[in-house]
Amino acid sequence: MKFLALIIIVIIISCIFYSFRPFVNRGDVSIANGREAKSKAEDYARQREMMVEQQIVARGIKNKKVIDAMNSVPRHMFVPVGYRRGSYFDQPLPIGSGQTISQPYIVALMTEMLDVDSDAIVLEIGTGSGYQAAVLSTIVKKLYTIEIIEELGVQAAERLKSLGYDNVEVKISDGGVGLPEKAPFDAIIVTAAAPEIPDPLIKQLKPGGRMVIPVDNNSYSQDLLIVEKDKGGNIEIKNTIPVRFVPLVKGKKIAE
Ligand code: SAH
Repeated sequence: MKFLALIIIVIIISCIFYSFRPFVNRGDVSIANGREAKSKAEDYARQREMMVEQQIVARGIKNKKVIDAMNSVPRHMFVPVGYRRGSYFDQPLPIGSGQTISQPYIVALMTEMLDVDSDAIVLEIGTGSGYQAAVLSTIVKKLYTIEIIEELGVQAAERLKSLGYDNVEVKISDGGVGLPEKAPFDAIIVTAAAPEIPDPLIKQLKPGGRMVIPVDNNSYSQDLLIVEKDKGGNIEIKNTIPVRFVPLVKGKKIAE
């Protein structure tokens, strides 16, 4: 009789143990997933370090704030899932709607050319993925960024918010007219190719401020210009290097 009771107890304990097994397994799986995610993040961080060393520093970018920003912003989070493996390659990548996220070096170069500090109020034209905005937001006080394609602008705003870039405000409108209600700006960066320097942007630049903008030349590329406004309001233009950007869509407002 005692023996029978012992067998029944053993059977009950076994049943309880097996009924908990799925939870035990699920625990194992989630730990494994967590480990995988961690090793992926570490892998991206290593790729980012190499990107900064080989593409940014080796090509002459010296500004420490720019280098730190390029090291800290997770570029892969701004690239569509299908292209993520190439996030840290030395090239631009498609982001949908026929647009591109710029090559890392160009992002670093244009940021360095802007020469801004932690007090600066900056305007970007051409939000795209929001990557350039994220890089700048780690350096400046406030960044306004304008995107003409509503879908891209909305996605970028959500992405920037979820990653904690809280000093960025995304506007959906035609950046060619700037953002008069928030002007003047310490610096303006245009990340789409303009046929000429838009007048409203020159007006919205603070005396002592500068704009970095790719402007069409007569070939297949554009000239990357630094436009400086001195204290007296005079404009000086420096031509730096040839670049290739998607065009600035002029006056074609897709969404308000
Ligand atoms: N800075 C972006 C890449 C810019 S691609 C990044 O880091 O990902 C150029 C962007 O400019 C595109 O998203 C395009 O839709 C936008 N654009 C083109 N014309 C514009 C205009 N008139 N006003 C605002 N954005 C414009």
